[in-house]
Amino acid sequence: MIPVPATTRQSSRWQVLWREAIRDPLALLSAVNLPELASRLSPTAAAQFPLRVPQGYVARMRAGDPADPLLRQVLPLDDEDHLAPGFSLDAVGDAQAKGATGVIHKYDGRALLIATGSCAIHCRYCFRRHFPYAEETAASGGWASAIDFLKSDPSIGEVILSGGDPLSISTPKLAELSDALRALPQIRRLRIHTRLPIVLPERIDSEFLQWAAELRWPVVMVVHANHANEIDESVREACAALRAEGVHLLNQAVLMRGVNDSAEALTALSEALFAAGVLPYYLHQLDRVQGTAHFEVPDFEAKALMAELQAVLPGYLVPKLVREIAGEASKTPL
Ligand SMILES: *Cc1c(COP(=O)(O)O)cnc(C)c1O
Ligand code: SF4
Repeated sequence: MIPVPATTRQSSRWQVLWREAIRDPLALLSAVNLPELASRLSPTAAAQFPLRVPQGYVARMRAGDPADPLLRQVLPLDDEDHLAPGFSLDAVGDAQAKGATGVIHKYDGRALLIATGSCAIHCRYCFRRHFPYAEETAASGGWASAIDFLKSDPSIGEVILSGGDPLSISTPKLAELSDALRALPQIRRLRIHTRLPIVLPERIDSEFLQWAAELRWPVVMVVHANHANEIDESVREACAALRAEGVHLLNQAVLMRGVNDSAEALTALSEALFAAGVLPYYLHQLDRVQGTAHFEVPDFEAKALMAELQAVLPGYLVPKLVREIAGEASKTPL
């Protein structure tokens, strides 16, 4: 028998599913039975920010529907080639706000760690599509520069793990961070911004749940679903398991033309989130990032949608409509 080196850790099931993600636009079109959309693909957009989508997420798309709200979020179409005025490469001012390698400190009391540049899914509307975050991660170097940054500013009581998707790194690597944070008495909360419980819910495995259960701070997890169809039984199970460990679950969504720009879609999203044990937190106006103009919903329309939501939903199921404006001290309510 060939001895297995001690350093070879067997892949978790979620890591296998991660690697099996669909990356070829034609393979995706074939999986959803829409070969005729091939002529509308953009090779430029696909080269700049490649397609990536887990098979379990593809299974939630409606086959044969070119307007499917999940498909629209991931398919690199020629709409992206349109260069609209006002849509830039750094729409939210991240290039100026970097505090240390992989740390963005824009708001009082909270520091955001770019844990990693990678994601299980590539969302076409994402402002990170233009960022060289792969070289700017907080996890590289054993989190040391991020910890030094936090030490230098005791006013930071909340650490936000973001990315990329922070749950794309392994649980042992997350444990290195939580171990290092224990030495900082200022930390009162740990927040995790992640889309993985929605797009690859298998990530919430027993190893992760045990890590979450043993953390010494209250944990807030802000997941990211934009449409009710993203929330299926596998997502509800992952959310229930997180809640059983005391994790507070909130959702942030992005308002997008052709995805969720109706009162019906947004109401269904809030209801589906609540049924999964998640409360809506933010509804973001799109960051004006190059290649995303076709998703934009004007502010007057966004506000009218909010008024409709307010009329039919309990207040706690109405998300806050916000925009991120570079240089502001917080997200800006609209
Ligand atoms: C959005 C954001 C936060 C979190 O803001 P909250 O309003 O507390 O959710 C923190 N830091 C940065 C850099 C952000 O972009
Ligand atoms: S950071 Fe979030 S929104 Fe952006 S591509 Fe990754 S998962 Fe999608």
